[in-house]
Amino acid sequence: MTDVSRVTLKPGDTIGILGGGQLGRMLAMAAARLGLRCQVFSPDPDSPAFDVVANATCAEYADVEALELFAGDVDVITYEFENVPAASAMILAARRPVLPDRRILETTQDRLIEKDFVTRLGIKTADYADVSSPQTLLAAIARIGLPAVLKTRRFGYDGKGQAIIRSNDEPERALTDLGTKSAILEAFVPFEREISVIAARSADGSVECFDVTENEHRDHILKVSRVPAAISDELAAQARDIAQRIAVALDYVGVLAVEMFVVNRDGKPDVLVNEIAPRVHNSGHWTLDGASISQFEQHIRAIAGWPLGKPLRHGEVTMTNLIGDEINSYGDWLTVQGATVHIYGKGAPRQGRKMGHVTQVHHAKPAQPDGTDRI
Ligand code: AMP
Repeated sequence: MTDVSRVTLKPGDTIGILGGGQLGRMLAMAAARLGLRCQVFSPDPDSPAFDVVANATCAEYADVEALELFAGDVDVITYEFENVPAASAMILAARRPVLPDRRILETTQDRLIEKDFVTRLGIKTADYADVSSPQTLLAAIARIGLPAVLKTRRFGYDGKGQAIIRSNDEPERALTDLGTKSAILEAFVPFEREISVIAARSADGSVECFDVTENEHRDHILKVSRVPAAISDELAAQARDIAQRIAVALDYVGVLAVEMFVVNRDGKPDVLVNEIAPRVHNSGHWTLDGASISQFEQHIRAIAGWPLGKPLRHGEVTMTNLIGDEINSYGDWLTVQGATVHIYGKGAPRQGRKMGHVTQVHHAKPAQPDGTDRI
């Protein structure tokens, strides 16, 4: 395997991106600004990322020949989604550096392995239990209590592959409906708010975290992110520290997101880790317009072996997702003063599909000598 600490790209070099969604598209645009080229690999001919790169590979992830040709065309490989098939990542890693390291996916593709990993670091999560049969589900309910959330171990996103169990009537049916026997049961967390930390780590081990983001979901899909999160400086520092410890423990190179719940424990706020996303993340989109360096640029810098930026936030930032039909309101958003509109160039606005987003920055007033007008 290639020694990743020796990856140093120069302008004109090419980054291979696995996945052709909006995250790949925004990564490629950030790379272009730094004089780096990208080649996108995606099985979907309508991939929005194809529109912004000169070279694309449209092939299945299992197509060994296409993977080998792709690896031959690029200098380093990254991914914009976490469900990269392990076999494809292995083929690519034998030929080019893959960053973040493909072995990280083994941890983050499986909710049980991920929660065990976080717990071993001494970081708190909701109570959880392995569920592999109706019997183990009943035992998990007896230990964790109800309500609880049953989640598939693999391939869950945006609330897909999960169900809330509220009563003891036929909990087994929830397992049948999930369509898999490989699941975890989590205690339902009566959270005060949801937050996330976007952290970047470079191969030399330095870490930069963006300010903590507060996230509002609708139907399990992120709707609005606000920065800074309405939490104390102490809790924000604790959240950033958790993200940093996770990045270090994974020996991570690139950007990751850690989603957390803020809970009230006997009158004191605390955070529980919900999920790790080993990639740039929707709750970091505000950084494109709301900070001097975006999450996408940080990721590109990290995998290029360049120094991470030290991002400055421009003010209080709101990011609103345009989901499904909401994209049809883009004309209204275009006329809102201070709004920056992003349209992902996807085809049909299916229900629940992320089609674009809008960022609004409330700029900081110039700081006063006594610091009173700082945001
Ligand atoms: P996930 O796919 O795990 O990120 O879950 C999607 C969303 O479902 C989260 O952002 C929460 O709003 C909600 N959720 C997930 N797990 C729990 C839980 N254990 N307790 C309460 N809400 C949850």
